[in-house]
Amino acid sequence: MKENRVYNFNAGPAALPLPVLEEIKNSFLNLNGSGMSVTEISHRSKWFDDIINDAVARTKRLLNLDDRFRVLFIQGGASMQFCMIPMNFLPKGKSADYVNTGTWSTKAIKEVEIQQKQINVAASSEDENFSYIPQDIQFNPDAAYIHITSNNTIKGTQWASFPETNDVPIISDMSSDMMSRPLDIDKFGLIYAGAQKNIGPAGVCMVIVREDMLELVPDNIPSMLKYTTYTEKNSMYNTPPCFVIYAIQLVLKWIEETIGGLGKMKQINEQKGKNIYSLLDNSSFYTGTAASGSRSLMNVTFRLPNEELEKRFIQEGIDNGFMGLKGHRSVGGCRASIYNATSIEAVEALVDFMKMFERKNG
Ligand SMILES: *Cc1c(COP(=O)(O)O)cnc(C)c1O
Repeated sequence: MKENRVYNFNAGPAALPLPVLEEIKNSFLNLNGSGMSVTEISHRSKWFDDIINDAVARTKRLLNLDDRFRVLFIQGGASMQFCMIPMNFLPKGKSADYVNTGTWSTKAIKEVEIQQKQINVAASSEDENFSYIPQDIQFNPDAAYIHITSNNTIKGTQWASFPETNDVPIISDMSSDMMSRPLDIDKFGLIYAGAQKNIGPAGVCMVIVREDMLELVPDNIPSMLKYTTYTEKNSMYNTPPCFVIYAIQLVLKWIEETIGGLGKMKQINEQKGKNIYSLLDNSSFYTGTAASGSRSLMNVTFRLPNEELEKRFIQEGIDNGFMGLKGHRSVGGCRASIYNATSIEAVEALVDFMKMFERKNG
């Protein structure tokens, strides 16, 4: 461990790649010869234009986006997308299909209901405490769109592949697995991700939207809640969070140039997942909470034999430099978030710690 840094398994805000933090540190007082920090330059300057345009270009290259797709940065987090999506893309007389796979999907559904728009919950895994991803779903062929949550940060489940939808566009909340693997982008009308899980610090949501979706945007909604406001002004209708977008640009550069793209990123993430899930599978002390075909490669959720041991595990973790192993307050238990920035080495160290804890307490 460098510079007294801990192993960080926080769910969000979460670990950032060390080279990114070092680059931020090194360029902080003088960004690209400007003599100013990124928090002091104008968002209308050439310096910032270069940053946001490079972030967009890298996103397009990494995800193989063609010219139909626009990359946007919108404040308000993923949570604001929950309301913007039906506001922009769900016209009167149409219904949208939602798949409920946990807390975040439930919140997305609630925002449609608040707007008194027509919604069909096409599938839900609530019957089994959201421990699995529903399969063989019958979607409404006339739906305006199908909304899913590709990775369920709290419940530790993830869509391993995306459903066939007969050309109904999928809209996906990818807050906790954006840029963790390559995507077949043709299925998607829009994807979005609060930055603070896998692609940067808190403060902005990355939104990728297919241009034909924009034809649905009504005139009579507030400017700041309209996707076209952002597409027309390169995400700079008002002042964007410059620092956050800069950090995202550096994370994307790290994925592209240091890791070698999303294919490589996926391999690394699979390796990490294998390390920790095989420990869970071979242990009678730790129990994974997600069904085996639905397990997340980003958030590994598990229980110990009782809450007393879980408390001790979390505390001894902290004492040994393993931060963020507490499960979400709504579900309890333990969770290791192993996003892109978490190295194979960090996961191996965690696995060793878990084995040691089991030997002492099992
Ligand atoms: C964290 C999270 C959110 C909420 O993100 P905010 O940016 O805080 O609004 C939404 N969806 C998923 C899947 C998340 O993990």
